[in-house]
Amino acid sequence: MLGTGNAFMPYGRYHSFAMIDCKHVIDCPPTAMASLRRAGVPLSEIETIFITHIHGDHVFGFPFFLLERRYISDREMQKPLTVVAAEGVKEHLWHLCELAYPESLEEIFATVEWRTESEGSLSSGLTWKRFRVHHDESVDPYGYHFNAGQFGSFVHSGDSGPCDSLYDEILLADMAILEMGLPEWVDSDHHHKPSDIQSLAQRAEHIPLIITHTFIDQPGFNPNPTVTDVYPVHPKNVHHAEDGLRLILEPDGWILEI
Ligand SMILES: [Zn+2]
Repeated sequence: MLGTGNAFMPYGRYHSFAMIDCKHVIDCPPTAMASLRRAGVPLSEIETIFITHIHGDHVFGFPFFLLERRYISDREMQKPLTVVAAEGVKEHLWHLCELAYPESLEEIFATVEWRTESEGSLSSGLTWKRFRVHHDESVDPYGYHFNAGQFGSFVHSGDSGPCDSLYDEILLADMAILEMGLPEWVDSDHHHKPSDIQSLAQRAEHIPLIITHTFIDQPGFNPNPTVTDVYPVHPKNVHHAEDGLRLILEPDGWILEI
């Protein structure tokens, strides 16, 4: 978990950003490069970017990501990069690149392989299924269900409020990375709130729910929290992730290494 904050970057957190096996990432937030630098992962080692939706806190790091590879870590443009995303995302990201660095990213952008199918697999055997979630419709929101065969599967919610399409996938998975973008008092159903997490945790009591995209500061990071730095009390299958958390899949299940 390279970043675990919502769009407002609560103290102690970068934007929500997850990495799988040190070579695939989910979304490309404005803090993506900072997160990868902090984790000591060369950007050229990233093989795949899965895009959930096109809100700025999920994709505005893409021009910087390509810029760094083009001029620093992959100058010969030899390292393959695949972007898995819904139809239309390619055009949106190209627009971002042109706004950010006109005429600097054409060559490397042309080397990207775009995969728009909703179900597919990578050479490592990891498969994905992209499914609709409940969020702002204008940003084409999806979650992903990843499956590593005998090693198990997990869901990433992207940004979503409570919805059956997400919960159906979570109930079939061995673990879920789930957003909790809003405090209880905000009048919106486009994100999960603590009470939504509580309800789901009771339904999915054997499935670890790893909370990301949170509105809660890292506890104790700043004496004047953005909103709060106190985690709600949730069932024991809920874990409020912080930046740097590693989730390791062992034969007995998921292990959290902080
Ligand atoms: Zn969003």
